[in-house]
Amino acid sequence: MRKIAIIGAGPSGLFAAGQLAAQSELDLGVDVFDRLPTPFGLLRYGVAPDHESVKAVAKTLAAAFDSPRVRFFGLVEIGKQLLPSDLLRCYDAVIYAYGAERDRQLGIPGEAELAGSRSAREFVAWYSGHPDAAAQDLSNVRHAVVVGVGNVAVDVARILLKDPAELSETDMPESVLAELRATHVEDVWLVGRRGPQDAAFTTVELRELLTLSGVAVDLHGADLAALDPGALDRKAKGNVEAMAAALAQPQPEAGRRLHLLFHHRPVAITGAGRVEAVEFESGVDGSRFEVPAELVLRSIGYYGVPLPGVPFSDGRILHLEGRVLDDDLSARPGEYAVGWIKRGPTGLIGANKKDAAETVASVLADLATAPVRQLDDAEELLAERGIRPSGLDDWRRIDAAEIDRGTLRGRERTKIEAWHELLDLVFAEREAAGPAPSSR
Ligand code: NAP
Repeated sequence: MRKIAIIGAGPSGLFAAGQLAAQSELDLGVDVFDRLPTPFGLLRYGVAPDHESVKAVAKTLAAAFDSPRVRFFGLVEIGKQLLPSDLLRCYDAVIYAYGAERDRQLGIPGEAELAGSRSAREFVAWYSGHPDAAAQDLSNVRHAVVVGVGNVAVDVARILLKDPAELSETDMPESVLAELRATHVEDVWLVGRRGPQDAAFTTVELRELLTLSGVAVDLHGADLAALDPGALDRKAKGNVEAMAAALAQPQPEAGRRLHLLFHHRPVAITGAGRVEAVEFESGVDGSRFEVPAELVLRSIGYYGVPLPGVPFSDGRILHLEGRVLDDDLSARPGEYAVGWIKRGPTGLIGANKKDAAETVASVLADLATAPVRQLDDAEELLAERGIRPSGLDDWRRIDAAEIDRGTLRGRERTKIEAWHELLDLVFAEREAAGPAPSSR
């Protein structure tokens, strides 16, 4: 039997696991590693809680674990507890599927040092109940600036502007809902350095933001009427039409306000110890103006991190059809990549299916002819290093606890966000049951 390790139980890793499990060309076993005890990666901790239809993809992804060929090893951090070189001794193929965990920086004064300036990634992690996320104190926030005009920017702006009563149906942790209910947000600025026609967000997501109840919309720095519709591609045309339609609507008198600001880039975040204002410069005439703000979320893209010994360039792993390439562009035997760490931080969850198919095809083609190697045993290696992985039963216990917690509040699920509670659910039960992870 051929053995395959997948690093990361997010959408790309689980699409790959599902496809490997479903094929009939090779007899193989797939071990999926994740540093968290919960699978689904960015689907669980990145897709906005109020996008329930996207979240439903979890069912498709979880189906990979229905196969006896697939095992889950949670609470194992590759790169720290085990190195890729360790896994290459235990597996015929290793697939890197660990996404893009960092964010890009603006590189402007005030960004790094002022309280209240942070990345959208951190904010998303918080409202998604990621156990590593720092709590966010929004009690003093009346004005927020979101830099960037992609779909992540739209998500964070929507969560800040939406009536919290509408969010109470979601799986957000109770602590997050309580914080959002207590906010006094009045103005949210969504800022693009180029024009409305160049925005990265997609029209469905934009329209959802523009039609939030009780939220007025303003446009600054751009004149939609001056744009030539014939010169716009489909997405740009849809976005511009959605903005024009929102601006033509009667605006609610009181309540929250969304400001769309284009052709401006932030040049400084100012304040004494914490954010008080953001200074913007026009890309058209160089003029500057200031917006008061207590919160600045930079939403200018995610960025991958390297793993020790794995070739890396500009935030991702170099590859050809999913085969990891060395610096001299030769393929590294047995190493593959999939998802954001392969193609960069773009694309919707579904894009990972096709992406996984490409990588899986390369893995299967190579394994069909690769010489059989004497492999070390991964479980023995984990035990030698004193690593106690969590398994599928542990995840199911967390899943059931979250569903129970939601039922108490009349919701489908309420996320458990505290590490100690997740670990209690994993280990309390296993102390009694013994150490064995799920076995094939
Ligand atoms: P993104 O779509 O690449 O957008 C990044 C934004 O940041 C762009 O507007 C970009 O502007 C701007 N930007 C980059 N560097 C900047 C700088 N130095 N100063 C000012 N602005 C800067 O990235 P994302 O929003 O992180 O989304 C990642 C992927 O996830 C996308 O494919 C997105 O569609 C997907 N996603 C989808 C949803 C959904 O609901 N469907 C939700 C979240 C994410 P320029 O164009 O000028 O570079």
